[in-house]
Amino acid sequence: MQYESKLPYHTKRMHAAAIYCSDGRVCEQYDDFLQHGLKLPRYDRVALPGGPACLAGYSQARLEEAGVIDELKFLVDAHGLQRIVLIQHEDCAFYTSRLAAGTTSLEQLQKADLVRAAYAIRHAMKMDTIDAFFARRTEQGVLFEPVELE
Ligand SMILES: [Zn+2]
Repeated sequence: MQYESKLPYHTKRMHAAAIYCSDGRVCEQYDDFLQHGLKLPRYDRVALPGGPACLAGYSQARLEEAGVIDELKFLVDAHGLQRIVLIQHEDCAFYTSRLAAGTTSLEQLQKADLVRAAYAIRHAMKMDTIDAFFARRTEQGVLFEPVELE
């Protein structure tokens, strides 16, 4: 089966990437937030279970950490990456299953991991701007709250 997407192909890059969890329940909301909230259409996507958690130094995610750092370095070189947006989401199975983290103060752990991930990125490469957000479920949809990285 062939399929042609009628969405136009844009040649201009945004020089921005987002690292987030690949959980399909929140990916459309991520797109909405990045494209309309942050005005970053055509941003590069680095999606994997747990998202930025893989950059927070967990032994359970050693391979992913090396892979994502490699991928980011490639994007810096090939796509002129200058900005990275990190997103953690509520109710992330990477934490509850893979890391077997308890559900109490999980949000605090995820926010601390955003700080650790930003540090790991800055340690590995030069990056002009890093922003972090926590995605929280609401009655209507998903709320993206900024997380302080300093
Ligand atoms: Zn997740």
